[in-house]
This record gives sequence, C-alpha cells and structure tokens, in this order.
Amino acid sequence: MSYELDHPEIREGVAKLCSNFPGEYWRKCDREQAYPINFVNELTQAGYLAALIPEEYGGLGLPLSAGSAILEEIHRAGCNAGACHAQMYTMGTVLRHGSEVQKAKYLPSIADGSLRLQAFGVTEPTSGTDTTALRTTARKEGSDYIVNGQKIWTSRAEHSDLLLLLARTTPRDQDEKKTDGLSVFLIDMRNLSNKSLAIRPIRTMMNHATTELFFDDMKIPASSLIGEEGKGFRYILSGMNAERLLISAECIGDAKWFINKASQYAGDRTVFNRPIGQNQGIQFPIARAYSQMRAAELMLREGVKLYEAGGNPGEEANLAKLLGADASWAAAEACLQTHGGFGFAEEYDIERKFREARLYQVAPISTNMILSYIAEHVLGMPRSY
Ligand SMILES: Cc1cc2nc3c(=O)[nH]c(=O)nc-3n(C[C@H](O)[C@H](O)[C@H](O)COP(=O)(O)OP(=O)(O)OC[C@H]3O[C@@H](n4cnc5c(N)ncnc54)[C@H](O)[C@@H]3O)c2cc1C
Repeated sequence: MSYELDHPEIREGVAKLCSNFPGEYWRKCDREQAYPINFVNELTQAGYLAALIPEEYGGLGLPLSAGSAILEEIHRAGCNAGACHAQMYTMGTVLRHGSEVQKAKYLPSIADGSLRLQAFGVTEPTSGTDTTALRTTARKEGSDYIVNGQKIWTSRAEHSDLLLLLARTTPRDQDEKKTDGLSVFLIDMRNLSNKSLAIRPIRTMMNHATTELFFDDMKIPASSLIGEEGKGFRYILSGMNAERLLISAECIGDAKWFINKASQYAGDRTVFNRPIGQNQGIQFPIARAYSQMRAAELMLREGVKLYEAGGNPGEEANLAKLLGADASWAAAEACLQTHGGFGFAEEYDIERKFREARLYQVAPISTNMILSYIAEHVLGMPRSY
C-alpha cells in the first residue's frame, strides 16, 4: 500500500506494542472468555487510551484522527480494541456536557487509567434500537436519584469503575417530544451493593466481556447527573459521530489484517501445481474487499477532517461506519474462503477474527439503522419507523 497514512509515529508505536500480543495471547483469552488485562494495561500505560482527553486534564490532547489511527493499528495487528475502546471515547459526554467540577474530578483519573470509564448503558431488552422507549427510571428523592430497571449488552461493566447511564427522569407521556425526559448519569459503581446493582455476564460468540445490569432501588447522588435533566438523549447523540468514525477505523484495521493474511496465503499455497492466488476466483474477492476497504478509508478521512474542523458530519460518520463494516466483513469472508479448511483451525486466528468482525453489522449501530439515516436525513425520504 503506497499511500501515506496519517500519524506515522503513533501507528508505529501502537504496532510495536501490539507485537507483544500475538495470536496465542488472543486465542487463550478467547477460549477462556477472559478479559485481555495485560493488553489493556499496556495501552493505558502508554497513554493511548487518553489520546482524546485534553492536556489540561492530563490527556494527550490529540485530535480524532489520532484516536482513529490508534484503533485502526490495533485491529490491523490482529488485536482487538473492544476490551477498552470505550475508555477512549465515553468520556466525551463528560467533557462536552459535564460541569467543571465533574471534569476536574474525573477526567485526570480517567486519563491516567486509575479510573476506568468504559461502561455505557443505553440498550435495554425491551426497547432495543428504539432508545426513547427505554424503561429504566431515575427518580429524584432529596439529594439522590433512585434508579430502577434493566440494561442489556452493557459491555465491560465488570472491568469499569464508572458507568455512563441513560435513564428516564420524566415519564414518556408527560413530555411533548419523545426524545425529552431522558437523562445521563455518571455513576461510580465501586461502592454500590450487589443488591442494588447486579451485573450478569453474557457469553457471546466472541470474547467481548458484555453484561446485563439490574438496578433495584439503586441510590446515586444527585451530583451524578451530567448536564441538564431531560436532555440526555441529545447528549448521547452528540457523541455518536465520533464513535462511528472510531469504529469505522477498527473495521478498516480488521479489513487490512484479513486482506494481508489472504493475499499472502494465496501466494504461498500451491494446489494443482500453482499458487491458488493465480486463480481469479481467489484473487477477485480479495481485490474487491481491498477496494471496499479503500473507499471506507477515504470516507473515514473525510468524516474525521470535517469533525476536526468543528463540523457535525452525520452523513460521513454513518457512511464510514457502513462502508467500514461491509469492507471488514467482505475481507473476513474472502480470507476464510482463501484459506480453505485451514481457515477454520483456531491456530490461524482467522475464525476468531471472523467472529469478531461480524459484530459490526449490529453494534454499536446496526446497518439497517444507518441505511434509514441515509434514506431520511440525506436523501429526504419519509421516516420509516
Ligand atoms: C457484543 C455486543 C456489545 C454491545 N455493547 C453495548 C454497550 O456497551 N452499550 C449499549 O448500550 N449497547 C451495546 N450493545 C447493543 C447494540 O447497540 C444493539 O444490539 C444494537 O443497537 C441493536 O439493538 P438490538 O440488539 O436490541 O436489536 P433490535 O432493535 O431488536 O433489532 C433487531 C434487528 O432488527 C433491525 N431493525 C429494528 N428496527 C428496525 C427498523 N425500524 N428498520 C429496519 N430494521 C430494523 C435491526 O437493525 C436489527 O438488525 C452491544 C451489543 C452487542 C451484541
């Protein structure tokens, strides 16, 4: 690949760190569904997870393009940032909408890694993608809020000190707009009893440390509220573009890993006295996945450029996520097929990465919802839901 990549020193540093975590490390974690703690600790100590926190709060104060370079390189090296990417960007809600007191209290410790903010509770079993239908409530009582309800797919909750929670503070039928009445809370989970907050892990097809949360009269101080009561949905939406761009970078990293692995093997593996890569049936899916990856990469750069210029690139962020997830999935499929039976063997890491890459068609936002966004907000068609 001859084009120039941005942030070359950061990319080099991340690639070097990742070389200490080869396939065997991830295979073991995957087999045991274990949290990759050593990998997360090294990334934290190197400061990469604090890339986007401003310097005044102890972070590196780097732009989004640096965050995207870090996540891309992690995935390009065959590692997975899913265990800790939220530490990089969940703090954005506190940074943009938190009070000075909250920022001064939390951001420096998040930056140095002594406090982990990597649990983000939005999705619920009954509401699914329809976020405004969520049922978890936070009721004000004196100087506290009392939280009741349930979340699902709250990833990394067992490996986080803090939880960013979206809950309803006004009943849905009492607000003019269904997007009103939701509030965001930054909750310190360390001192909560097991009775008021129960965390149950969910085993999934890939190693993702995801959980269900159950709130039973969970008492939190009123000072946990971020920004104004009732504005939480808008606060969460304001962070979506950055998250989608960063996830697109992970998909592009995955696509590069699969394409590299597939094209190398296609050249090495000889069947019928010639390399399998001489057959167009093997070449074309890899070349197509490469084309999709490059298109995604260009869209990611465009989105990041607009974001860094202070814009609100909803179209580009959504397209970058869609194209990135499609490219990584096409590359995963081509890589598995190129490897024939060996692709299914654990020791090649392909089946693991294949399972991991599939997630991005569903989370953090499913492909259908991105297509709905494009249809409605870019092409002006009627809202479908
Ligand atoms: C491993 C994992 C980790 C996750 N981590 C987190 C996390 O940390 N925090 C968090 O809050 N959430 C998390 N999620 C949740 C994730 O964001 C949701 O799974 C995702 O948004 C889809 O919601 P759902 O599963 O409820 O699907 P549903 O909303 O039930 O949708 C099911 C299917 O129907 C489609 N669909 C629904 N409505 C429409 C429509 N109107 N038009 C077209 N298609 C539609 C969807 O696209 C989807 O394909 C995670 C999920 C997984 C699997």
